[in-house]
Amino acid sequence: MNTPDVLKKKKLFLLDMDGTIYIENTLFDFTLDFLDYIKSIGGKYIFITNNSSKSVTDYVDKLRRMGIDVDLSNFLTSSQATAVYLNRQFPGKKIYVMGTESLKEEFRKAGIRITDKYEEDIDCFVAGFDTELVYQKLHDASVLLTEGVSFVATNPDLVCPTSFGFIPDCGSMCMMLENATGRKPYYVGKPNPMMIEMAIEKSGFTKEETLVIGDRIYTDVKSGINAGVTTALVLSGETKRADLEASTDKPDFVFEDVGELLELLKS
Ligand SMILES: [Mg+2]
Repeated sequence: MNTPDVLKKKKLFLLDMDGTIYIENTLFDFTLDFLDYIKSIGGKYIFITNNSSKSVTDYVDKLRRMGIDVDLSNFLTSSQATAVYLNRQFPGKKIYVMGTESLKEEFRKAGIRITDKYEEDIDCFVAGFDTELVYQKLHDASVLLTEGVSFVATNPDLVCPTSFGFIPDCGSMCMMLENATGRKPYYVGKPNPMMIEMAIEKSGFTKEETLVIGDRIYTDVKSGINAGVTTALVLSGETKRADLEASTDKPDFVFEDVGELLELLKS
């Protein structure tokens, strides 16, 4: 039953960022009050992002500049989740990375053997949201995928929002490679429930105590549904009411924004 009582029992809030707590560089008025409320009930907020072009430290800096109280434990990125996945599935293997320096650094820190040159003993090719992409990497990728190495990608997003519109994200880059080689990747980021499950595990809270909040149905809400966790959609970002009505995936709760959710939690 989707009653306010269900929400009042939540302690772990897994939050999307852009469109949910801010738009680009502008924090919503109610965000700080909402996060303070979570702390006041002994809860925890973790920001979950599919963006694999930036490092966690970049996000810590960005949110601190906005006045939000965060440290590394308040984040889970698809880069970190992919590192965990690679260590599980390809322990000790050599991985070709098509991604930013930040992504490669994340993998190195996790002890993964990586390269960005074509070599013969590569077991897996990983695509990220590579804002430093050059054609040679697409060429190397095509050779490797044609040879049959495993294919993993950090996130399925086709585009990334910017101030003027959109730029191609990891999913679009993978489509170029699919057109060339017929291969499709295993996507780690949302809507795969892996990041939600990892965040719950590292927080120490239970699934029942968890709420997933985001502005996209097909990534944020879907990841929560796939993980079997309560979901809330906010209409402060990408999704409009008409999109919600058209979607077969329905969130448990819908709010104009997290400000409206806060009002309900405090009522
Ligand atoms: Mg968003």
